[in-house]
Amino acid sequence: MLAVIVITMLSLVFGVGLGLAALRLKVEGDPLVDKIDAILPQTQCGQCGYPGCRPYAEAISSSEADINQCPPGGYVGVVALADLLGRDPKPLANGDDEVADTPPDLVAVIDEQTCIGCTKCIQACPVDAIVGAARHKHTVIDAYCTGCKLCLEPVCPVPGCIEMVEPKLTVDRWRPPLPREVARV
Ligand code: SF4
Ligand code: SF4
Repeated sequence: MLAVIVITMLSLVFGVGLGLAALRLKVEGDPLVDKIDAILPQTQCGQCGYPGCRPYAEAISSSEADINQCPPGGYVGVVALADLLGRDPKPLANGDDEVADTPPDLVAVIDEQTCIGCTKCIQACPVDAIVGAARHKHTVIDAYCTGCKLCLEPVCPVPGCIEMVEPKLTVDRWRPPLPREVARV
């Protein structure tokens, strides 16, 4: 009976101790970085020049990076970041200069006749947008595809098997035309 009481007391003391330690050691996330990261598409594709969405979010919050370096997020993402940070939206950056027009949203399409079913694209896709099995046809669920291009050659060993196309226009993908797009009509 004494042993049970002692063990119970010890586990209580340790439990309280661990609880207090967890409270003290809790790393407060940066709320601004969290908000920026929540806007980014989580494709982890690195097209922004950073090794993932979180490092890019940190770079934006420290003003090391600009808000227009995320192609998969598109112009819609730039506007959301500009709103959050109280800045003016700007066209997406493309390498070292700004692109004049907002690039079209693109999704990957697999030519099922030429696909050899090697599954390399499935392994490369950060958002699980590709379904298929070894030595069987693979296909892209375009609603999930962010257009990050990580599955294209050289990942896909079959030349021309995966190509990027403009997706069918759906409610989710519709965005209001930009003022300069309206001006051009
Ligand atoms: S299917 Fe290809 S382009 Fe689309 S999200 Fe996956 S890796 Fe990127
Ligand atoms: S990487 Fe290319 S060939 Fe291999 S499964 Fe994917 S689409 Fe097919």
